[in-house]
Amino acid sequence: DDAAPRAHALILPYPAQGHVIPLMELAHCLVDRGFAVTFVNTEHNHRRVVAASAGGGVQAPGSRTRLRLAGVADGMGDGEDRDNLVRLNAAMQDAIPPQLEPILDGDDGAGGEGLGKVTCVVVDVGMSWALDAVKRRGLPAAALWAASAAVLAVLLGAKKLIHDGVIDDDGAPLKLENNSFHLTESTPPMDATFLAWNFMGNHDAERMVFHYLTSMAQAAAVNANILLCNTFAELEPSIFSGESLATILPIGPLRTGQRYTSPEAVVGHFWQTNNDTCLTFLDEQPPGSVVYVSFGSLTVMSPEQLQELALGLEASGHPFLWVVRPGLTSKLPTSFMDPMVGQGKGRVVGWAPQEQVLAHPAVGCFVTHCGWNSTLEGIRNGVPMLCWPYFTDQFTNQTYICDIWQIGLKMVQTFGGEIVTKDIIIERLEELLLDEGAKERVKRLKELAEMNINGKGESMRNFNAFLEFIVRPVS
Ligand code: UDP
Repeated sequence: DDAAPRAHALILPYPAQGHVIPLMELAHCLVDRGFAVTFVNTEHNHRRVVAASAGGGVQAPGSRTRLRLAGVADGMGDGEDRDNLVRLNAAMQDAIPPQLEPILDGDDGAGGEGLGKVTCVVVDVGMSWALDAVKRRGLPAAALWAASAAVLAVLLGAKKLIHDGVIDDDGAPLKLENNSFHLTESTPPMDATFLAWNFMGNHDAERMVFHYLTSMAQAAAVNANILLCNTFAELEPSIFSGESLATILPIGPLRTGQRYTSPEAVVGHFWQTNNDTCLTFLDEQPPGSVVYVSFGSLTVMSPEQLQELALGLEASGHPFLWVVRPGLTSKLPTSFMDPMVGQGKGRVVGWAPQEQVLAHPAVGCFVTHCGWNSTLEGIRNGVPMLCWPYFTDQFTNQTYICDIWQIGLKMVQTFGGEIVTKDIIIERLEELLLDEGAKERVKRLKELAEMNINGKGESMRNFNAFLEFIVRPVS
């Protein structure tokens, strides 16, 4: 770390957990390769990330002295609801650009002076409005899409979908046979009811999210010099080999924290992880026996559903590790308030070191909401999945998991919003745990994932090409 850094990258994630984690991993990858990185969260998330890493420092520990964490005001008031994405997206676009200027110059007075001027930028596709300032300065810029290439391709292809009569001008699905459409000739069928923006049950909000997402994807394709995606070619071959809508460079799977196991490592989590409880418990369980249950950082289950899931897990007889985020535990049955639930067979934790959990040999299956990071982490660790999607891209990911890769099962066949009963939960768990085919197929994808990020794998080659590019001045 003593030599001068190869380059100084500013990284700007979208302010959600499923974005901050993979972009933080990208930051570590850059530091590993001799870069200095200034990681710019919103002030709100910056405080959470710093508090959640036990070291508590703004400077990442150990060899990570070249990773500087910074925060910028997101333009929302202190008590305002940051889950209101429509409001947040508008506020950020006004508030953040002027705050980026001094950071790019390396004179923001927040301890970044030692790293000098920023020489290149990686923005989350969701923050592509920030590319204007970067372009004006002539800095090389990349944009990273933190979900699947299939979903990015849909956003980039929105005009075509409107033209083909799949959606209207505001993204609302039009009546189709079976609700099914193909983006291009080579891509698998997709369900038009569950496009990434159709989830809020509020047409105005859906329309605004549709326009925001499609314009951000477009801005990234036009204004970034490189469009990166956290996926790998063999996972979504139809997006990378068929007729393409833009050049998307797969560099995944990013490892999201598995190698940073020291308690003070900065992995970008918003909550502190219960490492000891999780890993000690897993160490005591037979190989392939544990049901790991996690619905990511945003989904909220109804209290009735939470109770039914609790009963199902308890009655299944399998050991289980269940993440119930801080703040949601009060909805659990009283017997589950004891962390040693189900006669000692289970554990409930507030936030798990998920990659480490999925990598543990005791884990036999993953009950997941199908967030893209969780999906990739399941694959990377060879764990079959029981899918329980809620919104955004999760239904598309479920289709890939269950129908295309066939490495998991659907918890429910249709989306009706009814309570999934304890008996269905038990039945599906048994079915998945006995599904040798799914286990084999997910192991094969795990090998392909490994191959991609090791040595001369394609994702690694793409990553190297991206590095070569961003260290060069743009002509
Ligand atoms: N995660 C974690 N501990 C938990 C639950 C989730 O570390 O207890 C991480 C998980 O590994 C993933 C991220 O949080 O990297 C969630 O992202 P995902 O895209 O799966 O879902 P989202 O939260 O965006 O819905």
